[in-house]
Amino acid sequence: MHAPFCVKKCSYCAFSSVEKPVDTSGMCTALSAEFTRRTQQGNLEFQTFYAGGGTPTLLPPEFWMRLIGLVRTPSLKELTIETNPAVLDAIDYSSLLLAGFNRISVGVQSFDDRNLKVLGRRHSAAEAMESLKLISRTGFRNISIDLIYGLPGQTPEGQKSDIENTLRFKPQHISAYDLTLESGTPMGDRGEKATENQCADMYYQMHEMLTASGYIHYEVSSYALEEQYRSLHNSSYWNRTPYIGIGPSAHSFTGNERSWNTSSILDYESAILHGKIPVETSEHLTDENAAHEILALGFRNTNGVNLTLLEQFGYRLNPSEMIDTGLVTLKDSLLIPTTKGMLFADNLALTAADVLERV
Ligand code: SF4
Repeated sequence: MHAPFCVKKCSYCAFSSVEKPVDTSGMCTALSAEFTRRTQQGNLEFQTFYAGGGTPTLLPPEFWMRLIGLVRTPSLKELTIETNPAVLDAIDYSSLLLAGFNRISVGVQSFDDRNLKVLGRRHSAAEAMESLKLISRTGFRNISIDLIYGLPGQTPEGQKSDIENTLRFKPQHISAYDLTLESGTPMGDRGEKATENQCADMYYQMHEMLTASGYIHYEVSSYALEEQYRSLHNSSYWNRTPYIGIGPSAHSFTGNERSWNTSSILDYESAILHGKIPVETSEHLTDENAAHEILALGFRNTNGVNLTLLEQFGYRLNPSEMIDTGLVTLKDSLLIPTTKGMLFADNLALTAADVLERV
């Protein structure tokens, strides 16, 4: 579920979000209505629920309480909400816990005020630390910290200090993203980023420090303290499990079709008001599209590319051609990227797509 409001726009962010209006009740009603409309036919069993955005903790806890009442099925295992240290004072974390969220993802990004300023974040390092302490005191036992590296002017020592500060909290999960420059954002338009080599060095430094501290590096940007803390929700995207996306600009996937809601908040609310589902575009996936997705997603995580699954879509990949790259290993029918391989996941997927054969 995409909650499209933030305190202010960050300088690197291309997600669809606007500054929070005083009254969010119209959006809350629309989100609930879309959920009900999309799920009224069929007995759907959800495994995960993810409230992202935007900053979903800007919507009132009572809304989340009501909504989770609608979502809850016996199969529901993981309920995550994203939050932002910039709204520390305004959030009642115990109500969110009470509402049913059992996982929280905190957008820290860096523990260095200079980096936070570069990113246009609205919180300080001290506020990030306060938020983490508060969330932990509240009783959340599955906390994920988001970090960004590859910032302009960031040194390996600076990144090391961010990792050390993160480790002090021993979060159950860490997502560490290489900064992506998006056109149309202030940072993207200025082209501000560390060099490719510096980013690769930071990727390896992150891997070494976190795995030495017991974390499992299971996806290019994701680390879990134990197997049970792998993100079930994100893993289902990588496994191509069907999902329903609710909210402006949210995506949905049925297994053979992807669709996108309108990103305009006005159009979204108006479509809901008129009894419609606010889909703007949809795309039917051919077997070839599916095979390419399996490659693009599989080389990013340690579940790898499932060669048997590829064959079900009518494509064969000769494992030895890929093993020759030195970036993957073969285990049963899985082509699993190495640590270096995950860093070059996009190139691996392109190479593999070139040598795919029809069964
Ligand atoms: S808080 Fe998150 S969603 Fe909102 S502008 Fe910043 S990066 Fe984007």
